[in-house]
Amino acid sequence: MSELRKDPIIDRWVIISTERGKRPNDYKDIMEEKRTQDCPLCEGKEKSTPPEIIAYREPGSRNDTPGWWVRVVPNKFPALGIEGEPLLQQHGIYQTMNGVGAHELIVESTKHEPGLDTQTEKQVEEVIWAWRDRSLDLRKDSRLKYIQIFKNTGPVAGASLEHTHSQLIATPLVPVDVIQELEGTREYSSRQGSCVFCDMIGQEIAERERIIYESSHFLSFNPFASRFPFETWILPKGHQHDFGQVEEEKVRDLAKVLRTTLRKISVMIKNIPYNMVLHTSPVNMREERHYHWHLEIMPRLTIMAGFELGTGYFINPTSPEVAAQALRETEEFYPLQDGSIKEVYRYV
Ligand SMILES: [Zn+2]
Ligand SMILES: [Zn+2]
Ligand SMILES: [Zn+2]
Repeated sequence: MSELRKDPIIDRWVIISTERGKRPNDYKDIMEEKRTQDCPLCEGKEKSTPPEIIAYREPGSRNDTPGWWVRVVPNKFPALGIEGEPLLQQHGIYQTMNGVGAHELIVESTKHEPGLDTQTEKQVEEVIWAWRDRSLDLRKDSRLKYIQIFKNTGPVAGASLEHTHSQLIATPLVPVDVIQELEGTREYSSRQGSCVFCDMIGQEIAERERIIYESSHFLSFNPFASRFPFETWILPKGHQHDFGQVEEEKVRDLAKVLRTTLRKISVMIKNIPYNMVLHTSPVNMREERHYHWHLEIMPRLTIMAGFELGTGYFINPTSPEVAAQALRETEEFYPLQDGSIKEVYRYV
């Protein structure tokens, strides 16, 4: 079983993953690994994954056979496992906890395509429904405190499968980055009497310098203190702390904004590696109503090096104002009728 270990100095937990159990030599193989043609996520390969948890499929089609359009399966190599109790234990100065949680994979297309940006708007909407459905189902398990939905695209960003997919890891603790955001929003609201994310939206809309795309319910922009070139946040314009409460109309709108934003990013830099995370309020604990759920897209064009790792400061060589202007301007160049994407900008 995996184990969670707490750093004795700061409030940071690490998952020591025994399921993945890599020996030092295994890393050599990973670095030299060729991407296999035998993809377990393609339609027709349903038996290559663990049995599906849910799938949106044609009526009458059987589980783990074709006929689906979005499929959720357990990760074959889970970072956390569903069995056991999250017991906190003390070993001298060290603390551990059983690696209890869930690790699921959301297959975003039947076809072997690398991105969410090339899916139809309807398909992106279905993927968002899957995120929400899983989030609502997993929170019934009181052992779980946080549900992290994320997406890795490209080997540099940690994607080991090329086929477009997102993942979900549910944890028995609230992760430190989320705790920091919760504390920050709580502090701001007690000082200012308002939500920092709502105020941010207000200022971005007034200044229009960092906005990429705006719809009736969502704002896509490059945040003021962007850590990475083209770092992009997508926020619901109306205050909402819990992604699980997102309404149907907003899901449809988010599909449009997310797809448009990802298309713009990939028009600008083809095959851009990125990580995307969905931050939302924790589950099975005090409701954090001052929080405001959001998506963060972090392109991986720079490398975290010594200074970043040593200090937690990020050095971003592209200002969010420059990034936003470039991303706004890609608008007129897509989508092309033949389905291809015209390459207009290249980042050097
Ligand atoms: Zn595939
Ligand atoms: Zn808000
Ligand atoms: Zn966040």
